[in-house]
Amino acid sequence: MALMTGKEYVESLRKMNMEVYVFGKKVECPVDHPIIRPSLNSVIMTYDLAQKPEYEDLMTVKSHITGEKINRFTHIHQSPEDLVNKVKMQRLLGQKTASCFQRCVGMDAFNACYSTTYDMDEKLGTNYHEKLKKFLVYCQEKDLTVDGAMTDPKGDRSLSPSAQADPDMFLHIIEKREDGIVVRGAKAHQTGIVNSHEVLVMPTISMTEADKEYAVAFAVPVDTKGIKIIYGRQSCDTRKMEDGTLDRGNPKFGGHEALVVFDDVFVPNERIFMCGEFEFSNSLVERFAGFHRQSYGGCKVGVGDVLIGATALIADYNGTKKASHVKDKIIEMTHLNETLYCAGIACSSEGHKTASGSYEIDLLLANVCKQNVTRFPYEIARLAEDIAGGIFVTMPSEADYRSKEVGHYVEKYLKGVATIPTYDRMKVLRLIENLTLGTAAVGYRTESMHGAGSPQAQRIMISRQSNLENKKQLVRDILDIK
Ligand code: SF4
Ligand code: FE
Repeated sequence: MALMTGKEYVESLRKMNMEVYVFGKKVECPVDHPIIRPSLNSVIMTYDLAQKPEYEDLMTVKSHITGEKINRFTHIHQSPEDLVNKVKMQRLLGQKTASCFQRCVGMDAFNACYSTTYDMDEKLGTNYHEKLKKFLVYCQEKDLTVDGAMTDPKGDRSLSPSAQADPDMFLHIIEKREDGIVVRGAKAHQTGIVNSHEVLVMPTISMTEADKEYAVAFAVPVDTKGIKIIYGRQSCDTRKMEDGTLDRGNPKFGGHEALVVFDDVFVPNERIFMCGEFEFSNSLVERFAGFHRQSYGGCKVGVGDVLIGATALIADYNGTKKASHVKDKIIEMTHLNETLYCAGIACSSEGHKTASGSYEIDLLLANVCKQNVTRFPYEIARLAEDIAGGIFVTMPSEADYRSKEVGHYVEKYLKGVATIPTYDRMKVLRLIENLTLGTAAVGYRTESMHGAGSPQAQRIMISRQSNLENKKQLVRDILDIK
């Protein structure tokens, strides 16, 4: 079996036995939990679109190992065209879900681990790459969703992993056995973990010899004993437990993040892809970050498309669409959104071959892409709020709209243009609220800031890649300075 349908994917998750906590209580069936379900629906979209002939080229690809048709989310990029198609696929999914669809983290982790394990084996004579390839084929054949886990809690940011007061602030090896290792620690902000079959864990920063036991990469099923998932709250999340769908803003889709604790988790030898090789932690981190920074030039643009569409629609419904400043603001939103896309495409088409044969993005351009993402969605959101009008945060609830006593007032006074049903106007306003301040704002705004690394992390990479010496030489050449 190569491609799963959305339905089969849900059933495969249902069979898993994850330890998930929401509001302090263990969740018996995460698949059916009203707060979790919209995020699952977003991942289902990555399976459903892959079944549709019109999206086949973007969503599916031939495995470079088995030659079988696989979902692009389990693919190792084999050309600049693959890198470009990845970004296009992510834009498409952002457009279809208006949220984070979560499955990219594992794809980015796989691609980073693929070239890094190859380099490690070349230099050290280890056999990590073959093990990773085996695991990759397993995930391709079963069409699994794999989560990539990088970010440790980090404790005191001024101290290295081994110098922390609490040694568990970075995930580390606590025991080496003949058949594997035991690890302890946690990964924070873990996107889509509850909707994933497997988790691929990587170190979070570059390390030195003293941090050896922290330089560890491996994969385990998400329901492995000792993995405890504590679901992250999002603004307005309990609206998903209310009657009616209006106040959710985005009734069907969402994303999720969680704190994932590894409470003495056993990892068998065949699933270990780094075990103490601290000198390779830096390239693994840089490559993963580079791939995920590229990703944002696709997914955030797709969500931006929906926000721009909602803004244009509410201008229609409010009767302001002909105002010249409204038109101009929508042009500005489009300009910003497409600028994000430009960098996503550019870092992809400028991609290069790695020693392993896989393709990697242009790191400088990927970091420029993400740096833009830390800013432009905020401006796009600001303009959306400007055009929507204050009513998107002062509007009565769906229960009021349906109330016998006051519903007719809501219907009457929330009317915009006479031909547009009040309820439709309220729906669009709630979607704008969702994208700018509600649950989707986690994915569209704050994640734009901190996901794939906070702004300063990109500035460090931009400075490393900016090749100032070369630029100075250009000047010397022009001016004949020796
Ligand atoms: Fe994918 Fe974007 Fe979500 Fe990251 S933030 S997992 S790139 S949709
Ligand atoms: Fe992310």
